[in-house]
Amino acid sequence: MSLTMPQPDDAILARRGEIIAALRRIVPGEGVISQPHELKPYETDGLTAYRQPPMAVVLPETTAQVSAVMRYCNAQGVKVVPRGAGTSLSGGALPLADAVLLGLSKFSRVLDVDYENRLAVVQPGVTNLAITRAVEEMGFFYAPDPSSQIACSIGGNVAENAGGVHCLKYGVTTNNVLGVELVMMDGEIIRLGGRQLDAAGLDLLGVIVGSEGLLGVVTEVTVRILPRPQTARAVLIGFASIQSAAQCVADVIGEGIIPAAMEMMDRSAVHAAEAFANVGYPLDVEALLIVELDGPLAECDYLIGEVERIARANAAVTTRVSRNDAERLAFWAGRKAAFPAVGRISPDYYCMDGTIPRRRLPEVLQRIAGMSASHGLRVVNVFHAGDGNLHPMILYDANRAGELERAESFGNDILRLCVEVGGVLTGEHGVGVEKRDLMPVMFSEIDLAHQQRIKCAFDPGLLLNPGKVFPTLHRCAELGRMHVHRGQVSFPDLPRL
Ligand SMILES: Cc1cc2nc3c(=O)[nH]c(=O)nc-3n(C[C@H](O)[C@H](O)[C@H](O)COP(=O)(O)OP(=O)(O)OC[C@H]3O[C@@H](n4cnc5c(N)ncnc54)[C@H](O)[C@@H]3O)c2cc1C
Repeated sequence: MSLTMPQPDDAILARRGEIIAALRRIVPGEGVISQPHELKPYETDGLTAYRQPPMAVVLPETTAQVSAVMRYCNAQGVKVVPRGAGTSLSGGALPLADAVLLGLSKFSRVLDVDYENRLAVVQPGVTNLAITRAVEEMGFFYAPDPSSQIACSIGGNVAENAGGVHCLKYGVTTNNVLGVELVMMDGEIIRLGGRQLDAAGLDLLGVIVGSEGLLGVVTEVTVRILPRPQTARAVLIGFASIQSAAQCVADVIGEGIIPAAMEMMDRSAVHAAEAFANVGYPLDVEALLIVELDGPLAECDYLIGEVERIARANAAVTTRVSRNDAERLAFWAGRKAAFPAVGRISPDYYCMDGTIPRRRLPEVLQRIAGMSASHGLRVVNVFHAGDGNLHPMILYDANRAGELERAESFGNDILRLCVEVGGVLTGEHGVGVEKRDLMPVMFSEIDLAHQQRIKCAFDPGLLLNPGKVFPTLHRCAELGRMHVHRGQVSFPDLPRL
């Protein structure tokens, strides 16, 4: 592990037995897991290079239990790491040796569906896909669709502000959440937002979405549901160069067309996905676009024609329009299987997530190819091309000495490049531990201090998910008085934990 996590508190570890007994009184039955072999499944999340068994896992079933666990931990100075389905790719749910891992998997019920007002109220452990499954019979769907949607929880989606291929048109999680119930670190239960489109006061819901489990534990979510569009058709467009594909993406958006989804894969990704999913992708192209248009039939047909025209003008070498829904879904099956497909061609891979202005795509890909040569590691590229969100997958072998470190260094270079060209460190996977130490590349000390003031307002003891997002956590009392002049912190060599 090349990242350092907060030092475990020996005084807390010495009281492990007493703490576990207290937690068992709050969540009786099988709600507390403490045996080493039972803790094993919880020691990591989707960022599997990092592992650490927690002190204990607590699996509450009610908001009252979550509140009591938090109140107890707060009073005893015990850290808490919230966990949904554990699919985070940035290590957001990575446990700490002296922390309680608070799993929300038993919060798995859809509580209410209100078709008239187009919303659903769900518990945080409900999977993303299960929301659509619950409403599809009535012709509705929940729009944000991360590739992990079969497994990831809506609570985790809220915490990470998750996105997916259909977010270009329908928005990411923050645009599709109307309200949450939140348990604060001191056990207080609050509600932010609700069933209406706007709420009085500050937009604290906006602060919570994407807060990576650092501000509170989400115990209920109210989401928008949308009527399924009358038609959806997808077109596969192959190009002889990445430049032409990137220009086509820019031209489609430039002409005012907002596809439901617009994804790009490079040659290696197309080959890996086709070998895995057998969906008929053309193999003689350098870049492949999948563009989906949806809406009323006539609008959809017209827009498909427009996209084909723009593709031809950008020297597309192949175009294929889906003839039916089965074929459209097959086009997506390859793209959605890109991660497991890449898992078959390399013992390990490291999936990056950064965002750039769309017009810089050809240049950025060229520079990533150069980095691939200099780091001596292959890279496969898939992107949410419509919104400039890159997912380069760096291929490595963890059994070869030094390759993980080289992969991480390559990944850091890619993220620095994203910031350099005017983009951002993350697209949808969050900061977690993975990008924590790169935060100063994007934010000044003053920016970070202001962000931490928000953390302090919610969790002054810094007990909720510490070691994530902020490269350094300043004590809240110190932060309140700290004056940072021109980004220069006083006494920079003093440890600030
Ligand atoms: C194969 C694969 C494909 C993926 N594709 C996508 C994609 O297309 N788009 C995308 O956005 N992401 C993607 N991801 C990443 C991941 O699925 C998302 O970040 C997802 O939102 C995490 O949800 P989870 O339930 O697994 O959360 P976890 O991994 O358990 O936790 C993630 C973070 O949320 C916090 N958290 C979890 N539940 C709560 C809660 N109830 N209250 C407060 N904090 C909480 C945790 O502390 C942690 O910081 C992918 C992951 C994999 C493995």
